[in-house]
Amino acid sequence: MAIEVVVPMLGITVEKGKILKWHKSEGDSVTKGEPIFEVETDKVVTEVESPGTGILKKILIRENVEVPILTLVGVITGKDEELPQKYRTVGAETQAPPVSPAPPKTSSPSAQAPAGRASGEGYDIAILGAGPGGYVAAIRAAQMGAAVLLVEKSEVGGTCLNWGCIPTKSFLSDVKVYKRVKESDLFINGSKVSIDLKKMVSRKDKVVETMKRGISLLLESQKVKRVSGAGKFLDPQTIEVTSNGKAETFKAKHVIIATGSRVASLPTVKVDGKKILSSDDVVHLKEIPKEVVIIGGGVIGVEFATLFNGLGSKVTILEMLPQIISTEDEEVIRGLKILLEKQGITLLTQARVLSATPGKDGVEVAIDREGKQEKVRCERVIMAVGRSPYTEGLSLDRIGVQMEGRFIKVNSRMETNVAGVYAIGDVIGKMMLAHAASAEGIVAVENIMGEAKEINYHRIPSCIYTFPEVASVGLKEIEAKQKGYDIQVGRFPYLSSGKALAMGESEGFVKIIAEKRLGQILGVHILGERATDLMGECLLAMNVEASIEDLGEVIKGHPTLSETVMEAALDWRKMAIHLPKK
Ligand code: FAD
Ligand code: NAD
Repeated sequence: MAIEVVVPMLGITVEKGKILKWHKSEGDSVTKGEPIFEVETDKVVTEVESPGTGILKKILIRENVEVPILTLVGVITGKDEELPQKYRTVGAETQAPPVSPAPPKTSSPSAQAPAGRASGEGYDIAILGAGPGGYVAAIRAAQMGAAVLLVEKSEVGGTCLNWGCIPTKSFLSDVKVYKRVKESDLFINGSKVSIDLKKMVSRKDKVVETMKRGISLLLESQKVKRVSGAGKFLDPQTIEVTSNGKAETFKAKHVIIATGSRVASLPTVKVDGKKILSSDDVVHLKEIPKEVVIIGGGVIGVEFATLFNGLGSKVTILEMLPQIISTEDEEVIRGLKILLEKQGITLLTQARVLSATPGKDGVEVAIDREGKQEKVRCERVIMAVGRSPYTEGLSLDRIGVQMEGRFIKVNSRMETNVAGVYAIGDVIGKMMLAHAASAEGIVAVENIMGEAKEINYHRIPSCIYTFPEVASVGLKEIEAKQKGYDIQVGRFPYLSSGKALAMGESEGFVKIIAEKRLGQILGVHILGERATDLMGECLLAMNVEASIEDLGEVIKGHPTLSETVMEAALDWRKMAIHLPKK
């Protein structure tokens, strides 16, 4: 029976491959597993193995022709077998569309104005918002030679540096040590230790200030022109910036909107900053509440549950969906649920909050649990039901920017529908993460500067800073199956890692999902200590299109947590050293 030779799937994002060289000619014998041709994609050049043994009866695609992935390129038959009729009419010409030429590059603004100095026509690029999207875009644009204007109405670093990523990680780092000392019997009187909340907050303030100074110096060194005030569009190339009632206008050939997001609430719940808090209030925490109810079991919900549980509060999460962190892989969700509950955090799922009413003794929260109304009482409530894009006052209507719900609509090049106007970060609502905002900023700038870049969300990790952490990238197991991949999963538990045991951090696992035949890594999901750092090497492997077997062949220092990634990769072929025979 004839065996079809196809260009294999070489990654979730790879769509085309060019046949560089056939190692065999028509009529040659081929053996299953021997390399028969070489294919080049935008990521790798790789040998493709013969899917069967027999005679390479017909080559359908010539060398140097680019074709879509899974295109039929050859046919193998038995020794004396005729080429089946259906392949006789398939010619190389009909199978091989010519490679489309790269889009012409637009001229680079760098040719028009030296870095940091606006020409008579204004700046090359104006950026509204100096969060991790805006300030990173400003630096990259200046590095590429553009004259850049960066407008910020509040603090450089945006939500991430002032109210988000950095403050919360500073707190969590302190709380981790505190919890360890309090819960371990290693320390004499350890259980009686208490934390100095004022010092914890002031250490956080110092970290934030240090980073703010650092970013300001970076912007200065790149000669980015900074303006304080709220920006709005007068037309697509004219920005008006208002500060303390005074308005000034600036011209720019291109504008990047990077205005971020702010805390969202429920219509029936008013965040008062006293009894009902938002994440912005938590970063200025003045006292440790005895009881906290967190509305929302998403990323902020579970991080804050970890924080307050570590500080000694009794924590309850109210989540309306059947699961917390519902966008993660099933196994990770189950694992984190067990670990949070083990730490004493109460998780009420399918609990939709209807209202929260502050009273004399705290707050009364009304919930709907599968049709039944219940009340939960507590000292403090924290709202964590998502964030809304910050578009107010930008006059987007005036220039006709198209929206997608509440968010600004962009394509994969970060372009809005208005020529020369780009948008990045939380305001476009794709992946509301700091590193995603920065990556989108770089894509926008590089496109403005004449390159042809597109964002690839399959290569952007998601990180959750619970105890232990969660990190993931690419496809979940169920998604990989739904997309039709034939998959195999490699797993390794932290419990089998010497380093994790020595650290007293033996909970969690590494899970790697890869395509069965070629070992293409489709998704990685880690629940465990330093999961967010371990993800780095998995991302590198995915970026260079390394196979899961390549990941298993890396020799790791011992003992390291990174050995868990290597062992999970080896487990994919049931070859993990530190797992019993299956
Ligand atoms: P922002 O950081 O919101 O910055 C936008 C800036 O634009 C702001 O400074 C704002 O003042 C300014 N601005 C708004 N309107 C105007 C205007 N008209 N003119 C001038 N300036 C304007 N992400 C992670 O990746 N990791 C984490 O650990 C993490 N932790 C988080 C913890 C919390 C509690 C929160 C709330 C968020 C966290 N995030 C985390 C998310 C992260 O903070 C955001 O995804 C990120 O800040 C988005 O960056 P951005 O540049 O799009 O917007
Ligand atoms: P989220 O969308 O992750 O979670 C909100 C949760 O609230 C959802 O699970 C939702 O089902 C639930 N919810 C909504 N209405 C409810 C109701 N009436 N009753 C009960 N539950 C309800 O939003 P978030 O946790 O607020 O985080 C906001 C954004 O900030 C996220 O997009 C996240 O990416 C980003 N962030 C990232 C990090 C990180 O990367 N480590 C940390 C914090 C925040």
